[in-house]
Amino acid sequence: MSRSALQSSSSLMKVLRELDAGLMDHTSWLKVLHRAMVSGSTPTPSDLLPDAHCRCHFGLWYYGKEHPELQDGPWFRNIGIFHENMHEQARRLLLKRNTGEPVTPDEYDQFMDMAIHFKLEVRGLQTDIINRVCEVDHLTGARNRNSMNFKLLEEHDRMSRNDQPCCLCMMDIDHFKQVNDTYGHVAGDSVLHGAVQFLGKKMRRYDTIFRFGGEEFLFSLPNTGMQEAFAIVDRLRVELAELPIGLKGHGDISVTASFGIASMNPDEPVDDAIQKADHALLCAKAGGRNRVCLWDIQTGG
Ligand code: GH3
Ligand code: MG
Ligand code: MG
Repeated sequence: MSRSALQSSSSLMKVLRELDAGLMDHTSWLKVLHRAMVSGSTPTPSDLLPDAHCRCHFGLWYYGKEHPELQDGPWFRNIGIFHENMHEQARRLLLKRNTGEPVTPDEYDQFMDMAIHFKLEVRGLQTDIINRVCEVDHLTGARNRNSMNFKLLEEHDRMSRNDQPCCLCMMDIDHFKQVNDTYGHVAGDSVLHGAVQFLGKKMRRYDTIFRFGGEEFLFSLPNTGMQEAFAIVDRLRVELAELPIGLKGHGDISVTASFGIASMNPDEPVDDAIQKADHALLCAKAGGRNRVCLWDIQTGG
């Protein structure tokens, strides 16, 4: 499953603040640079070095650690390119100033264009992050119900256009109330988080987990027919049942879940497929739990 759907909102919020700090720092840097160009005052000393882009506040953040949560879209890479080019052009302007050569309007424009693009790309990344935070269920890292409606309509359009199957799977953790009753609600929260994080890592990159409500989750499995979906989900079921989930003060526990699968139909609304998956889930529960059932067109359940 894509990383973007399973990262923690708090780490993304931290990135937002770090990007704000980087922009603030560059605004101050621009002021010092312009003052140096216009009045001949001393520029920021590292601005004349070839690796000036690695030495500013933002560069230390950008190059100083891994940013796996930001690699998905184009923003992060583009920001690095504009940032480096902006510093390189600033260095050229300062070197000219030092040798008394005039800076041409084109050279100045090029510098300002890069500075503007850098800021726009950072703002773009920030908007992207805010959108991601709004789509995520904060407890589990799954996508939330709001984003589900939108994403499933997209999948429905795509499958209709490309004539590809797409299955939905409703999962409900078995006897979850007992987990809360035995170990407490906080422990129950850890179980939900642990189970979803585990399943998310085991799923294919283009599959998505949505928190449907409580301890119920909906998977979308694009480009997947019923039999393949069964094989995938049954493997997940077995792996989940074998997963030790560590609870503070209680050691490891394990949980099982029941699953119901239905195929989306291009001629029917998405909600119909959700209802069918839900019916199939009821069959899995009625059949004894810890099992996968397919919605059956013959029996309607
Ligand atoms: P079944 O096998 O039939 O699904 O039994 P169940 O106990 O899982 O189902 P039931 O509907 O009786 O209970 C679901 C429980 O899930 C009750 C509710 O308090 C708990 N729950 C829902 N959301 C959360 C949550 O965010 N955190 C915790 N800790 N518990 C939750
Ligand atoms: Mg339930
Ligand atoms: Mg349950």
